[in-house]
Order: sequence, then C-alpha cells, then structure tokens
Amino acid sequence: MSRLALINIEQLVPVSGTAPKRGKLMMELNIITNGCVIIEDSIITYVGTMNDLSEDIVLNNNNGVTTKIIDCSGKTVLPGFIDSHTHFVFGGYREQEFKMRLAGESYMDILKAGGGIFSSVNMTRKAEFDELYHVGMNRLNHMLSMGVTTVEGKSGYGLDKDTELKQLKVMQELNKEHVVDIVSTFLGPHSVPSDYKGRGKEYIDFIINEVLPIVLEENLAEFADIFCEKGVFSVEESKYYLLKAKKLGLKCKIHADEIVSLGGSELAVQVGATSADHLLAVSDQGIKDLADSDTIATLLPATAFSLDEPFAKARKMIDSGCSVALASDFNPGSCPTHSIPLIISLSALKMHMTIEEIITALTINGACALNKQNEIGSLEIGKKGDMIILNKPSIDFMAYHLGMNLVEQVIKNGKIVWISK
Ligand SMILES: [Zn+2]
Repeated sequence: MSRLALINIEQLVPVSGTAPKRGKLMMELNIITNGCVIIEDSIITYVGTMNDLSEDIVLNNNNGVTTKIIDCSGKTVLPGFIDSHTHFVFGGYREQEFKMRLAGESYMDILKAGGGIFSSVNMTRKAEFDELYHVGMNRLNHMLSMGVTTVEGKSGYGLDKDTELKQLKVMQELNKEHVVDIVSTFLGPHSVPSDYKGRGKEYIDFIINEVLPIVLEENLAEFADIFCEKGVFSVEESKYYLLKAKKLGLKCKIHADEIVSLGGSELAVQVGATSADHLLAVSDQGIKDLADSDTIATLLPATAFSLDEPFAKARKMIDSGCSVALASDFNPGSCPTHSIPLIISLSALKMHMTIEEIITALTINGACALNKQNEIGSLEIGKKGDMIILNKPSIDFMAYHLGMNLVEQVIKNGKIVWISK
C-alpha cells in the first residue's frame, strides 16, 4: 500500500458531495482551515483538520507503510479540475482563419477560403492515427499542468465512419497511457457532411445504422452528442438521434442554443440529457426547464470570448436554480484554448460568477456532467485521490491573478503526477 498525506493545508477546499450543486448551493465549498487529506493507494481516506487527526495516522510507519508527506503550509488544496466539454483530438489548426476573423472578414468569406469546420474535417481525415495520438498526448500534458485530472473529448471531425472511429480509438488509447482520465463522447452529428448536403436526417440514419453499433460494440464512447442549431440539425432531428442513442445505451449531451434560441435546452431536459452545453441564446423557458431538472447547464465562456459574442447568462441561470458547470470547449475553430485560468477569469469578470461558484462548476458539477460524481469532483472519503495544490493561501487569488496558472502540484489517483518548475 502507498500512503500520501497533505498536511498543514492553509485552505482545504473539499467542495463535498456526490450530487450536482444548484443555485445557492454552488456557494458551499465546506472550506477547512489548517486541513489535511490522506490518500491510501488511489482512494481518499481522510479529509479534515490537522487538529482532529491522530498523529499516528500520518507519521507511523505501521505495517511497513511509509507515508509520503507534502507540507502545504500557505497553500490551497482543491479537487482536480474536470473539463467536461472539449474536442481535443483533431488534425491541423485554423490560425489563418482566426487572422481573417481579426481582420473583419465574415464567416462566409472564411468558408469560401476553405475555412470553417470542413477544413478541420479534411485535416482530421488525412491525419494518421499516430499523429492524432501525439498531438492528443501533448494537449493532455498541457491540460494536466493547469490542474485538469479528467477531460471529456468528442469525435465529430470525421463525419464519416472511419474518421469518427479513429478519433474515438485515439482517445481510448490515450486513456490507457495518460494519467488524465478521458470520458469519450460520440459527436457524429457535429455537422452535415458535404456529401449529405440538405439531407441531415439521412446522415443521422447513416450514423445510427452504420457507426453507432461499432461505437457500442467496441466501447468507444459513454455519451452521444449532437450540434442542435439553425442550419445544422433541427430540434426534431436532434430528438430522433438522441432517443435512438439513448435506447442503444449511451447517455446524452447536446450542443444547445449556442447561436439561435432554437429549443435545444428544452429538448435536453425532455430527453433526460446529462448536460446541455453552450446556452448563449437559451430562452427563459429553457432556463426554467434546466432549473427544474437534473440536466447540467454547461457554459463555455472561452468560446463566447473567442467569437466576441455576448456571454451566457450564468448569473440568471444560477439565481434560477440551475446546476452550472464550466468547461473549455477546446476546438480548432471557435475556441482554440483549454486554459482553465482564462475560463476562471472570464467566468468571474464577464459572467459575474463568484469564485466559489466557479470552483463548484469546474469540480463536482463538471463530474455530474460526466456522470462521474460518485468517483471524482470533490474531496471525500472513498473518492479517487485527484487533487491540486495551488501556490497561494486562498481561492481568492484564482480569479484575481487574471489568466495565471497557480497550480503547483497535481495529484492523480494518489500519486504526484505534475510539479511546477
Ligand atoms: Zn463543443
């Protein structure tokens, strides 16, 4: 057995719980001053104050077990961050497209110049498995350095059978090799491919009949997702796809109400989706439905920032009683960053969330968005030993140091896996 003890923690932030925190409960982090966490093998066995801790537990070398001790004086300890919405496996970049956007060119101009999602689709189709694996590995390393211990990743840059499966298989291999846990989502209906132009429903049928069975057989994804948006997939098509996927055994997510208030959030609740994501244009009814449901409202502020769009109404959603999660939406087009410090600052300054709500949204509510709330998302006896040590004495530094990474050490499954140089 191995034992790791984090002692003298200036501010220990357990977050606590195994259920989504909604509304006012997002403020409750159950902070402990002068705290201690003990992890035996990969599982947390103590969370509390130094005073309540019998000294024997930390220092005794009983049964031949040596305790590795980390002195966290002047530091903050939190659960590892959960980035519950990314598209981190893709080929190529679209930096020229970004430059065109900055120069004021329209989306149509960019499309005509070969940009947009189809350029990522072409580059991902062309990329070899090993190439996607290596870029994926590098991206996971960078995420880990910012405190991410679990990440969700989507397919959706293939829009054909082979490439969709390739993306999912890359994530399956990365999950075996990398310490960051990966939860995979099948997003075959990310867009209608050009060979199905104007025939979205037929493309969905192709996905359901030809691709989903293999995804399930080879255990390549836990979630099914769809881009429900005007000009992409309608609410009816999204409902048709999600209900089929659910029947086959996948849990559901939706890219909902990002650009137009189409009713994707209402649909998410109706089909019992685990999360509805984006929500920049969510209707009042959508907010009410989400607040009355167990569906997590996942907000992606770096995307709104990158597109220079108005931010999601996080304040209204939380005040209405929604369970809000935050994620990066890392992708090559609308959000080429997975910077957690940037998300924290944007959430505070542009969405008026408190730092307590932001932490809840990046930990337990993120875990709920991945249906992993019984294993991760809070520091709780029996949960996985996934946590981060910040080089500052309190959470108040997190939004204050705009865009700065304060993570000093990352602990995954009870092992130190990253130390800041
Ligand atoms: Zn997305």
